[in-house]
Amino acid sequence: MTDPQLVIVDLDDTLIRSTDLKRSALTAIAEHLEVRQDAGTLLARFDEQDASAFEQMTTGDITVQDYRAHRFDWLVPAGPNRRDLIDECNTLFMKICNNPGTSEVMAGAADALHTLHTRRVRVAVLSNGPSDGQRSKLHSSGLGDMVDYVQISGEVGVAKPDPRAFCRVLDRFAVADASAAVMIDDSSRNDLAPARALGIRTCHFTSEFLPDGASRWGYLRSILLEG
Ligand SMILES: [Mg+2]
Repeated sequence: MTDPQLVIVDLDDTLIRSTDLKRSALTAIAEHLEVRQDAGTLLARFDEQDASAFEQMTTGDITVQDYRAHRFDWLVPAGPNRRDLIDECNTLFMKICNNPGTSEVMAGAADALHTLHTRRVRVAVLSNGPSDGQRSKLHSSGLGDMVDYVQISGEVGVAKPDPRAFCRVLDRFAVADASAAVMIDDSSRNDLAPARALGIRTCHFTSEFLPDGASRWGYLRSILLEG
């Protein structure tokens, strides 16, 4: 197999340990609100709420501010200062989740990006989310300088799984044969199925398909690159 021309990579839970950050943020928020719920329950409920609010934001039904507030609706009890509490939740959440350090980068990811760069394989981050949060994650983790292009749904108006999000990246690098590109993503439903339908090779970034932990990016590097 020859080296791919382009590697398209997801950000959350593929390059950055976003679920770990979310778990920490939600635990801190629950303490702040004096809510007693375990981290697993908080995370499941938050993800459910986040998915539906994100869809509404993507279709233009609600603003970014409303999207962020809706994610905490269920957690903040009714009361005169409810709106302020929701804002405090969001501020705390963004402070923790949008400022990952290098220690929150997936093990081996930085080395893999470096190797791809030296092999002249172009790398594009394709991420769903508001611009400020995703840009902040890339900057504070140090990953922003290690990729050739970043496409964020909040900036371009199309989000995965919309095929136009993928086509836009292929066009950006003038990739005529989609099979010369590889998409790496932890979310199969959202991101890999439409990429595959366009002819892009795909790699599901999960322990179900790849080795767990530190070797995952190392393994990926070995199967992406020849020799
Ligand atoms: Mg992801």
